[in-house]
Amino acid sequence: MVNKDRLVKEFLELIQIDSESKNEAEIARVLTEKLEALGLEVREDDTKEQTGLGSGNLIAKLKGTVAAADPILFSCHFDTVTPGNGIKPVINGDIIESDKTTILGADDKAGIAALLEGIRLLKENDIAHGDIEFVLTGGEEIGLVGASAVDKKALAAKYGFALDSGGPVGEVIVASPDHAKINAKIHGVAAHAGVAPEAGVSAIEIAAKAITMMPLGRLDEELTANIGVIKGGDRTNIVCDLVELNGEARAITFSKLENQMKAMREALEGAAEERGCTVDVEVNYERVGYKLEETDRVVEVAKAAIVKVGREPELKATGGGSDANIFTIGGIPTANLGVGYLDIHSKDEKMPISELVKLTELVVALIQTVAE
Ligand code: ZN
Ligand code: CA
Repeated sequence: MVNKDRLVKEFLELIQIDSESKNEAEIARVLTEKLEALGLEVREDDTKEQTGLGSGNLIAKLKGTVAAADPILFSCHFDTVTPGNGIKPVINGDIIESDKTTILGADDKAGIAALLEGIRLLKENDIAHGDIEFVLTGGEEIGLVGASAVDKKALAAKYGFALDSGGPVGEVIVASPDHAKINAKIHGVAAHAGVAPEAGVSAIEIAAKAITMMPLGRLDEELTANIGVIKGGDRTNIVCDLVELNGEARAITFSKLENQMKAMREALEGAAEERGCTVDVEVNYERVGYKLEETDRVVEVAKAAIVKVGREPELKATGGGSDANIFTIGGIPTANLGVGYLDIHSKDEKMPISELVKLTELVVALIQTVAE
């Protein structure tokens, strides 16, 4: 049913339009044209000024033919990471890749190409469907900027699917972590390191002790923590009196995150106290995570549709975030689905054509499942 040549041609066309984050105007123009040519009503939202991106988000509506079907949304982003200009695709058998001087841009134009081909298939095959909103965003790669600005209340969708996850078609990201950041200033006592070291207390030693006391790295399947920045000291002949540390932790379950931040704080405070010194600790939580349940309609639909296209559904948690987080937090439970792209955010990025075809089949299957 999928027209593979047409799909690949359109994918190649999309990835050859430069659209690094903040330079989204041209890709948004082309996508607007394509969606309108398919008979959809397309609107660019008025968030460009606020976000500083090259374009607002595109919201395209496809009116349903089945009134009883749940209204749903699909989301993809049209910006790319760098180096994403002048992409020259190369096809090697089933694999589309770049000439290795740039990324490929399958993240996330593979998702967009599958959506466009999916819409065409609905029309060509008179497939019954409910109301569908296509929400295409910019600035995803620089912090989910476009999606964050979307007015979720203006959307009718009850739930949705983002096509923007690694892993093969069939993977469903059902959980993504909350984040916490920790910033600490360790105050030691300065002294001449050669003349009177006993008069000083090294903030660097306190930091070292604190860090070795902290649980860090992958702590369990859903909890990670890292000290990513350490700054301090000026000269070798001064006992260092100030060290700044910046770290983070992520967990799907918020109470685990709170426990982790407590442990990190206590390690710092304990190490400082032991040396008669103080530490200022600041912890900030970002409730950006989500967790979908197996019994949620969105997960049920995803699983059924994946089975329909001959794959085994695999429900997974991720350590990262995507536009799916933003829509889910905004009240529209959204599962992020595996697209099959490989080695994204690198010059080795690849897209298997067979996965692109399978993803398109999945788009249609999702729509059919909702309409049944
Ligand atoms: Zn992406
Ligand atoms: Ca990405």
